[in-house]
Amino acid sequence: MVQITGTTKLLGVMGNPVAHSLSPLMQNVALESLNLDYCYLPLEIKPELLSQAVAGLRALGLQGFNVTIPYKEQIIACLDKVDDEALLIGAVNTVVNHEGKLVGYNTDGRGFLRSLAEEWDLGLYGEQVVVLGAGGAARAIVSALASAGASKITIANRNVERGLLLKADLEQHYPCKIAVVDLSEGELDRELAASHLVVQTTPVGMYPHAGDATIIEPTRLRKDSYVYDIIFNPPETRLLQGAKEQGCRTANGLGMLLHQGALSFEYWTGIEAPVKLMRQALLER
Ligand code: NAP
Repeated sequence: MVQITGTTKLLGVMGNPVAHSLSPLMQNVALESLNLDYCYLPLEIKPELLSQAVAGLRALGLQGFNVTIPYKEQIIACLDKVDDEALLIGAVNTVVNHEGKLVGYNTDGRGFLRSLAEEWDLGLYGEQVVVLGAGGAARAIVSALASAGASKITIANRNVERGLLLKADLEQHYPCKIAVVDLSEGELDRELAASHLVVQTTPVGMYPHAGDATIIEPTRLRKDSYVYDIIFNPPETRLLQGAKEQGCRTANGLGMLLHQGALSFEYWTGIEAPVKLMRQALLER
């Protein structure tokens, strides 16, 4: 347990719900292991009270906080400044209190890239990638893949309009070619056949509604592809299970969760995060 004293600085995660969040566990293990005088709290906030809650956190002098579903976009209007990457993504998952000024960042995309590099020795420069989904997580991931030099990213989403909005936002910032397709057979299958890496970013297949759901049938994947599903509960979605059975290399989203949190930790403390310990805490839970 972190020792709370009169000098302890406060951090937290705001969202609704937050009871399921693994961030308090992971961040407190990290803070405690380095003997840092901080405590990280769950902050469940009612939707109609978001701006009052942010004013309250500011008044209390919180050092910073993470932002999770459903506030990653809405929080922007409550902050003093948002960095360019988070503005481009259109979402903030990390806020730092810089001497009274609340500044927003987004560590999801860079957390994803760190996790990808840890999983596989896979160059992204000049590569073609398929991203399934076009929501908040996909925005961060597509932006990160484009910044890492991918030559073409195909966004496959149920709602094609949403994919087109993401394309329009990102295409003017990166030389990367961005295509948008729906999830049906045909166009998407041609893109899957041309891509080494497939990233699944939708909640389809996630606990507790996992069941047998999969965003696309795994048999549509190329047998030598790398398949990253950002869901980590269950650790192996039906998509990953099917992909593995036919020879693909697979990874779940635990590494992304870990590394986005490690980057937030580094923003708040200025100290390199104890990633090994944080991962161990997540795996034990
Ligand atoms: P979001 O903004 O609500 O986006 C959801 C996406 O999933 C949209 O593209 C949506 O498509 C699609 N989708 C949802 N239900 C679908 C269905 N039944 N069939 C087809 N498509 C469906 O959510 P998000 O913030 O991007 O989060 C998505 C998932 O990523 C969540 O499970 C979240 O827990 C996980 N996540 C993991 C990490 C990590 O660190 N590992 C980080 C962030 C998020 P439409 O546009 O057609 O509705």
